Formats: sequence, C-alpha cells, structure tokens
Amino acid sequence: PLTSNDAIEEHRICVCVRARPLNKKELSVKDLDVITIPSKDVVMVHEPKQKVDLTRYLENQTFRFDYAFDRNSTNEMVYRFTAQPLVETIFERGMATCFAYGQTGSGKTHTMGGDFSGKNQDCSKGIYALSGQCLLYVFTEVGSASFLYLYMHSKVFDLLNRKAKLRVLEDGKQQVQVVGLQEREVKCTEDVLKLIEMGNSCRTSGQTSANAHSSRSHAVFQIILRRRGKMHGKFSLIDLAGNERGADTSSADRQTRLEGAEINKSLLALKECIRALGRNKPHTPFRASKLTQVLRDSFIGENSRTCMIATISPGMASCENTLNTLRYANRMK
Ligand code: ADP
Ligand code: MG
Repeated sequence: PLTSNDAIEEHRICVCVRARPLNKKELSVKDLDVITIPSKDVVMVHEPKQKVDLTRYLENQTFRFDYAFDRNSTNEMVYRFTAQPLVETIFERGMATCFAYGQTGSGKTHTMGGDFSGKNQDCSKGIYALSGQCLLYVFTEVGSASFLYLYMHSKVFDLLNRKAKLRVLEDGKQQVQVVGLQEREVKCTEDVLKLIEMGNSCRTSGQTSANAHSSRSHAVFQIILRRRGKMHGKFSLIDLAGNERGADTSSADRQTRLEGAEINKSLLALKECIRALGRNKPHTPFRASKLTQVLRDSFIGENSRTCMIATISPGMASCENTLNTLRYANRMK
C-alpha cells in the first residue's frame, strides 16, 4: 500500500527516459537498434530484431519509469510531461530542477538546449526555451537568467560573461553563493533564446581543449523570478556531463581518467541528494560535489521538485552505457 511518504516522493521526483533515433553515423556502420518502448512508461533493452551473428549475448532487460519517450517524441512532448509540471511549483514560491543525464551523443543538449541546426526533423526549442516561455508568459514581473558550467572539481565559469571564472562560497548559515555570476534580465522568449545561444556558443568556443570540456562539464541554466526584490522561485535546468564509462580504462589518458572520476563522483552525489529529497530527509549531502553545492537551495525546502530525463542511444554499440544510464535512473526514487 502507498504511504504518505510515497505520495511525497511520487510528487516530488519524476524520472523518465528518452531514446533518440539511430543517427547517420550509427546507420552507416550498421549499428542495430536494441531499444523498444512498448508502452508509455516501459523501456526494453533486447537483442536486435534482425538476425545477426552476435559476438555477445544480450539479455532482455525491462525498466519502468514515470514516462518513456520513444524515437518519435518531440521536445514539446517531453517538456509537457517533465518540466511543465514543475513550472507550477515555481509560481507557488518553489524551487525546481530538471536534469538531462546520459552518455555523450545520447541527446541531452538536443533535449535541453534545443536543436536549431536544421539537420533534424525535430528542429525545435528545447526545455530551456519552453520553460522560459511558459514562466515569462504567466509571470507579470521581469525574470532573470544565468548560465554557468562546472568542470572538474572546482572550476566554475560564467557562460554569459566570456567564461569568467567564478567562485562558490558558503557562509555560516549554509547559504551557497556563486560570486560574480551574471544575471541577465529576461522579458520574453526571445530574450531567453538569445541567452541560450550566447551560452551555447560560449560553451563550445575557445581552444580545442576548452571545446572538449563541453561534454565533460555540467551546464546549469537558471531562471529566477523575483517579486518586489525577493526571490519568488527558481528553475534550474541542467545539461549534465556525459556519464560514459571507458574513462577508467587504461587506454584513456590521465586527464580523461581524472575527468571521468570527477564526473562519476558528482553524479553519485547528485543521486544521493535527489534520493534525500524524495525521502524528505532533513539532511541532504550536498557538500559532496560542487554541482550539488551550487544546487543546494533547490534540494532543500518544502516546495522543491525535480525531474530527471535519462537520454539513451538506441544502438547496440552503446548498450553498456545505456544499461548504466537506465540503472542509475532506476535508483533515483
Ligand atoms: P549530448 O548532448 O547528449 O552529447 P546531443 O544532444 O548533442 O547529445 O545529440 C547528439 C546528436 O544527436 C545531435 O546531432 C542531435 O541533433 C541528435 N539528436 C539527439 N536527440 C535527438 C532526437 N530525439 N531526435 C533527433 N536527433 C537527435
Ligand atoms: Mg551535449
């Protein structure tokens, strides 16, 4: 039977999965689809339907989530079941977070930032823009937005201010502050879109090494609503660093291994914080990583809600990473 705690958990945390279609590269190497979404909340990982000589046997595995979105889903559909319900929380003086989690190339940025490249059918706004649009449409006062990224343990950069270095400070009352982070006023969807574009181009610009950081760093886009100078609500939308393993294999160089270990640590800390939120625990272990420290105020408090979108690649070649992603998401509640 459901207990009242289950009800809180149910209400506060939403975990879903989104599979993208096989892409050109996967099709060109004849990678095979191993994902089926038979109903709106079930994901199956299985042997490819085509007859092939399998070098390894793939055991059928089934996972259940709040929602499962298949390759035909659009950003708008995903938004409607994930971030949109959280927007309500923010109007009610609350804090909300929405994460995209998955291996590099699985569709995190496509889902969050949107895809305006014209390369895809789903040439549309992502969850950043759709959330901003909804928040600003209803909220009559001006909002503001910030955009930062975290790389390795303590490197925090401002994406709206030419990657200026930022410092994270915690005062005696456990209030966490990102010192120097710029906030830009946003009045309409166009303002939000401009900031997303600016932040995204900043994220991937610079020397090759800085560019390579982009999939190895967590990007945090925040929309803040204030009423008479006081914080009314905040929505944090996070495009997490790629969770792929392989970084711990001996073939990876030292830097890649260090990055992998650091990412792993922060993703574990994140899971613990979300679980604490779901269980209504008074103690949230937010200090375990910079990411959770920056998001601290969104994990505490009565009126906090979160949503995790696990993105997966459908190909057999990605199968191990996909299973890791599904297992992680499965343990969120
Ligand atoms: P990640 O941010 O997880 O590394 P991306 O969002 O950059 O992955 O996606 C990798 C590629 O796959 C991009 O070219 C993107 O346009 C494409 N893609 C991702 N998700 C989808 C989808 N649901 N439908 C169509 N194309 C997608
Ligand atoms: Mg990305």
